[in-house]
Amino acid sequence: MRDIKSMTLEEIQAEFQAENLPGFRAKQVYQWLHRGVESFAEMSDQSKDFRKKLGEKYYISVANIEKKLVSHYDNTVKYLFSFRDGECVESVVMEYRHGYSICISTQVGCKMGCTFCATGKSGFSRNLTASEMLAQIQAAQKDLGVRISNVVLMGMGEPLDNYENVLRFLELLSSDLGLGIGMRHISLSTCGVVDRIYDLAEKKLQLTLSVSLHAPNDAIRSQTMPINKKWGVDQLLAACRHYGKTTGRRISFEYAMISGVNDSDDCARELAAKLKGTLSHVNLIPVNDVTGNDYRKSSAQRLERFCRILSQQGLTATVRRTLGSDINASCGQLRRRQKEEVANVERSEFE
Ligand code: SAH
Ligand code: SF4
Repeated sequence: MRDIKSMTLEEIQAEFQAENLPGFRAKQVYQWLHRGVESFAEMSDQSKDFRKKLGEKYYISVANIEKKLVSHYDNTVKYLFSFRDGECVESVVMEYRHGYSICISTQVGCKMGCTFCATGKSGFSRNLTASEMLAQIQAAQKDLGVRISNVVLMGMGEPLDNYENVLRFLELLSSDLGLGIGMRHISLSTCGVVDRIYDLAEKKLQLTLSVSLHAPNDAIRSQTMPINKKWGVDQLLAACRHYGKTTGRRISFEYAMISGVNDSDDCARELAAKLKGTLSHVNLIPVNDVTGNDYRKSSAQRLERFCRILSQQGLTATVRRTLGSDINASCGQLRRRQKEEVANVERSEFE
């Protein structure tokens, strides 16, 4: 059985032709798939015979709602979705001034092992297919009865460690006959897979690249993010500068403030010096508590002071408020990051 929703229109057309299936149907089938049908039976303008043939060759990826949590504070919704093999991922939907935004997962688990991250702690199971990424959006839209206008790849997993499927997903997501969500409404967050940042730069996509920096130097970053041992801070920042130059896009740097680890005045000054001259925006986030580690979030005063030092050095930096903390419990990071990205759009003030 083939995964038809991961295929581009051109691929479906070619396959229909090769298998003597009526070629003109490809466009209609593609549109049905991207409207979110969950079975071939729902393709009501297709003949019974044809639907049966499709069902024998292909399957349609669906994200089933296993759990749904709604914040009493701000209507943020967190889903736990399962796929056909029973694997589960989380997605978060938030309503904001300009519409709805969803934070989706790109892998079941993650190989990167960042010490502050709940996903990193749970290990890696498998990559998601392009259709499974789409299915998260479609399932949320269907459940909430809304149209989602912004997509952030900041859920479980490292998108650049699932590069081919993520690129395919971006192509499908932004296609006119698909959901039609333009690149300027998409953000991709990475822990710093440097060779893939160079690859992505060549694609010259207009999406927002978000880089999880979290430390100004190798001594600190290598303690919390194992990938830093492969590509250090300077190599990562060189890749970011290249990315900015090639695409003309400002890079968003994420910096989770951990008390006593990366939140000193010296860290702020070192960070400012390193980012000087890079088209960037720094998002300061109090680290989320994850059970099983001793990290504590920096105080509000510390965040404010750190932010002020960055601003004084000429950087654009913001501290975010924490919203919807009542549904934060099981997977802090996913929900938290969603908030940061949305706040990015709103440029909200620190409270
Ligand atoms: N793998 C990608 C995207 C998923 S993680 C990446 O690392 O960027 C999404 C974001 O959540 C990253 O910025 C990550 O550093 C951050 N994050 C993970 N655990 C966190 C925690 N406990 N507190 C705050 N942010 C966290
Ligand atoms: Fe993976 Fe991102 Fe978590 Fe690191 S922070 S373990 S890269 S999901």
